[in-house]
Amino acid sequence: MSRFQSERLSTLTPYTPGEQPRDMQYVKLNTNESPFPPSERAQRLAAEAAGRLQLYSDPTCRTLVDKLAEVYGVDPDEVIVTNGSDEVLDFAFQAFCDKDTPAVFADVTYGFYPVFAARNGIPFETIPLGDDFSIDIADYFGADKTIFIANPNAPTGLALSRDEIEQILINNPDNVVVIDEAYVDFGGESCVPLIGQYDNLLVTQTFSKSRSLAGGRLGFGIGNRSLIADLHTIRYSTNPYNVNSMTAAAGYGVLCDEGYTRANCQAIMENRAWTTLELAKRGFELTESKTNFIFAKHPGIDGGRLYAELKARGVLVRHFTADRIRDYNRITVGKREQMERLLQAIDEILTRCPQ
Ligand code: PMP
Repeated sequence: MSRFQSERLSTLTPYTPGEQPRDMQYVKLNTNESPFPPSERAQRLAAEAAGRLQLYSDPTCRTLVDKLAEVYGVDPDEVIVTNGSDEVLDFAFQAFCDKDTPAVFADVTYGFYPVFAARNGIPFETIPLGDDFSIDIADYFGADKTIFIANPNAPTGLALSRDEIEQILINNPDNVVVIDEAYVDFGGESCVPLIGQYDNLLVTQTFSKSRSLAGGRLGFGIGNRSLIADLHTIRYSTNPYNVNSMTAAAGYGVLCDEGYTRANCQAIMENRAWTTLELAKRGFELTESKTNFIFAKHPGIDGGRLYAELKARGVLVRHFTADRIRDYNRITVGKREQMERLLQAIDEILTRCPQ
């Protein structure tokens, strides 16, 4: 910390992203990236856009926004694109929360929410998940706060149905409800079809997982046009060029290849089912994941230890140290051969390590 740091920053604990180590080639199952490359069209369009980088990007991202609107069956003015969905979430904290309207979210959920709140000087409350990590929707009725729900939730993998989210919307008519659907393409039920009925609903999604563009940094929000207009006010007051032209081109390209995306999601869901069974055979306890990751603990080995033993064997998973989830590891579902490597390492650990 420098001697010039503002008072505001002195108490801020930043978000800790997953490791991206360069020391060796890991089986990388720690940051929920796709194991598949971006579609060929996405790669080609991004390369072509690189040849025009002397120009600023289009601040309206018109071609990409129109394509998103077409794919999701909404109007272009009901869509905003951002630098990863982290950015649209940050904008939502700024646009829809303040001292009088705090934020509320689960105690076990995406770790960036409390950071966005803190950095924007927004008070927040957390609502504990049940012992089985489930959300009791009644806990959110009449919350009188801006609600953030990751659905499916991370790192638990559990999902609420669209009907359950609708109950939360009905019971909070005067507050914004943000549904973070970063993982929805792996078996969840999207709330996008509800945006016409509820002017307090903002849905956020990302190209980082199902669409293989984590490094491109592309996210989006879909909601009532007045909510989207509020987010644009923040965007134009922050960085109108928040999505660079190569990423916008790649995003458009991958949206033209929805068949590729759906086939990749299908492969991930099949590998998830297979790995879940294999882990259960080995004594793991798992949540019912609707995402591209598995959340698992083993009664015989501490979560932190399993993480370290796997890393020593070249397999990287994510371990969180928060009290309620320290026994667990979050394991990204990759290609079948990656999951086989994971299981080989686990077998070795379970037989060799005294428990
Ligand atoms: N929401 C959730 C629940 C996530 O896990 C992530 C990924 N870290 C994000 C949002 C943000 O993803 P991105 O900024 O890559 O779109």
